[in-house]
Amino acid sequence: MHRTNTLKVTSISGRGRAYCATRHITKGTTVLISEPIATVVSQEWLPETCLWCFHCSYPRRNKVKAILTQDNKRKLPSETAGFCSETCKNLAITNHRCEEWDTVVNAYIAIDDEYRLREQHEGLATPATSEVDSNDYFGGNVTRQGQQAGNTIDLNDEAQAEGWIDTVWDMAVNSPAFLASKNSILPDTYKADMCKLIASCLIRKHHCDTADNDNLHIQSYSSLMQMQYNEISRFQSHFKKMILTDELAHELAKDMKIPTHAGQDFDTAIQYVPEEILADIEMYIFFASAFEKSKTPIEWAYDHRLFRQVLYREMSNSFGIWDPPEGSEPELLGWALHPVAVYFNHSCAPNIRKFRQGRNMVFIADQDIEDGQELCIAYGSVEEKVQARRARLSEHYSFWCQCTRCCQEST
Ligand SMILES: [Zn+2]
Ligand SMILES: [Zn+2]
Repeated sequence: MHRTNTLKVTSISGRGRAYCATRHITKGTTVLISEPIATVVSQEWLPETCLWCFHCSYPRRNKVKAILTQDNKRKLPSETAGFCSETCKNLAITNHRCEEWDTVVNAYIAIDDEYRLREQHEGLATPATSEVDSNDYFGGNVTRQGQQAGNTIDLNDEAQAEGWIDTVWDMAVNSPAFLASKNSILPDTYKADMCKLIASCLIRKHHCDTADNDNLHIQSYSSLMQMQYNEISRFQSHFKKMILTDELAHELAKDMKIPTHAGQDFDTAIQYVPEEILADIEMYIFFASAFEKSKTPIEWAYDHRLFRQVLYREMSNSFGIWDPPEGSEPELLGWALHPVAVYFNHSCAPNIRKFRQGRNMVFIADQDIEDGQELCIAYGSVEEKVQARRARLSEHYSFWCQCTRCCQEST
């Protein structure tokens, strides 16, 4: 990472943390070069895209294999992965913490194995509904952190919403009936890719927690935790949508208030969970079953709380790896997490342009910027009209854009 002395992190009221100019910046100045903490190449582009520098040699395959395949019959997506050169392979190995690279590769294989297993059984297995009553596992009403002892849980309240979300995840991943209904569902490849990205992050956590990090220049898991976490706002916005569109849900949860007894058993609780959140839980069940079945022992820790710590940061903060890095009609090769880039807020009229340079993201002033002025990038394309733009930003990033351009164009 290379942070120049042209910017600093400050707190702007109503906008949170932001990068601001520390002096006049002329157009074309590089203000930041960021290295990712974790990356993933999508399954589709694995055979032709270098895992380190993201050079895409399509239609030619990567020169150097990442994994030596023993069994030719069993070709998993990760077994087609590789590098454009020996140099990139060595960089990948040496720029991870000790033995971390092997652990990451094994995690990829475990996820591919689970995906392959479900692919083979798709359409064959009708998920059995277990007879086990989830009440057996949750003996009655459990009052959890943030959950009020009164008659209702107010999901508009952050702490109460957080408590409710935690309750729901706990119940879901401990409900035999729910697990049985989800454990053969094939996720789309995007979700399998995200599981690989999340596993890489949790492996980094393990190495940070256990290794002596003194002389390591590699980014720590705690830098990832600096990223904005959108679990509660995501739950709230989908819940609002659910009570607006679903009559039953509307009856059950007027004004975002749900009865405390909703947490008594999972069959009741599930009525108070938007389908988007159930899909997130389904993704975790896929993730967990991959590592439960892993052929190599898993030495790093995972559970739904750790998974959510990363998922709900990755979801609103990951950068697409585009090829060509700048220009028209690029292909999306994968995703990268850049903790130092998170202080760039969004504007539909950004003053900072970003592009990929190999593995790194480069941030350049797109116009002259005054001392003290906020530095903003655009999250995705800002070509659409104001309504469509705001809707897309709200959907993907859970905020309603109030940038100068949006405010002008909406009046
Ligand atoms: Zn390369
Ligand atoms: Zn805007």
